[in-house]
Amino acid sequence: MTHTVECLKGMRDLFEEDLIAWRWVETVFARVAQSRGYVEVRTPLLEHTELFARGLGAATAVVGKEMYAFPDKKGLSVCLRPEGTASVARAVIASGKTHTEPFLRLYYGGPMFRYERPQKGRQRQFHQLGIEVFGLKSSASDCSVIALADALFTELGLKQRVRLLLNSLGCATCRSAYLARLKEILLPALETRCRDCQERALQNPLRIFDCKNDTCRNQNNALPKLSSHLCEACDTHFKDVKTTLTALGISFEHDENLVRGLDYYSRTAFEWRADGLGAQDAIGGGGRYDGLITELGGRPTPAIGFAIGVERLLIALEAAGITPPQKEAPIAILPLDPQSAQTALILERDLLARGLTSVTVNLSETSLKSQLREASKTGARAAIIIGEAERSAASAIVKNMATGEQTTVSMTDLLAHLLKKI
Ligand code: AMP
Repeated sequence: MTHTVECLKGMRDLFEEDLIAWRWVETVFARVAQSRGYVEVRTPLLEHTELFARGLGAATAVVGKEMYAFPDKKGLSVCLRPEGTASVARAVIASGKTHTEPFLRLYYGGPMFRYERPQKGRQRQFHQLGIEVFGLKSSASDCSVIALADALFTELGLKQRVRLLLNSLGCATCRSAYLARLKEILLPALETRCRDCQERALQNPLRIFDCKNDTCRNQNNALPKLSSHLCEACDTHFKDVKTTLTALGISFEHDENLVRGLDYYSRTAFEWRADGLGAQDAIGGGGRYDGLITELGGRPTPAIGFAIGVERLLIALEAAGITPPQKEAPIAILPLDPQSAQTALILERDLLARGLTSVTVNLSETSLKSQLREASKTGARAAIIIGEAERSAASAIVKNMATGEQTTVSMTDLLAHLLKKI
């Protein structure tokens, strides 16, 4: 026997039972985004590796360790996208839209790839739903982005289980002064830190606040924090964000350790954490990234966005016992012989054309008993049984699957009967 080919580690096949909740989340997200004036953008899964190295920062974990980068047939280094923001920013620059539009509000969704160690809530192919806003710099625009996610969590019934953590990462000026100060403190005591932090202290000291090691965390508590070293403009911006969120009724915690993993953030940074996820409890995050467009060769354009992980959102929904709204139960047409199958297909077409939204035909050529069993398994609310006798009388037997009641109905009255009685 030949061996079977398995799905790659950290990747999953999704069947209908997985996709019901999946589609619901995507649909609600698209509706929430569209209703606030956002329009969709789709970018390729494969990009120049350079895009992420430049956009996310060469010293980040994503770029340093997790990228699916490889040479293509001509030796060009390409990469499966590890996140959406850099791709969307590249697309916006390439389209010239940052020149022609005063501001842009975009949403997107799709698979992302990171070569990480798989565990609950962490995969190598995962999916994000995200938004990016270009051309707006106010604190109110930061809040409108956070409010959009808040509306999503509310619509999904998850709001009470999600915590918003908020911080300010300052601007290039106040952050670099703070980083210099941080290095002064960190470098003389480098050996007291874990290996990752020793590297972080040299490459990008802010990342030490991301460390999960208890000893490093304890030391971090004693360090000066960036949010108390903000310049006046960044400080005012951050205060205004907090005031507006409060006015919107969106609760948050100021987390001074929240630095986010990617280099491009400035000023407002945030993350949502949810119950029921274990160690990987961040379901989404984002922030302002005013420097990214210039970093990628575009005109200076302020920008802000977020991405939410679909898999983690689904785990949080399941942990909360939240299930998607039931879709309409189907009407199952059960033909009892090959000629009746033809009548059944015509009936399926006509019932759908006349407004029913869920109709199935059983073409298994099995007994009525087994067709009824199948209909009940799919949750059908009615079965329409057509055999030779019904065909010659231009009628059908309608079985109400809830009550078991059977009625013979003429084909011409069938739709009215289904609408009224079932
Ligand atoms: P990030 O782009 O790292 O800020 O991630 C945003 C969100 O994407 C996270 O909060 C997670 O919900 C999700 N995410 C990131 N990496 C993974 C992964 N390896 N597996 C599953 N979800 C992920």
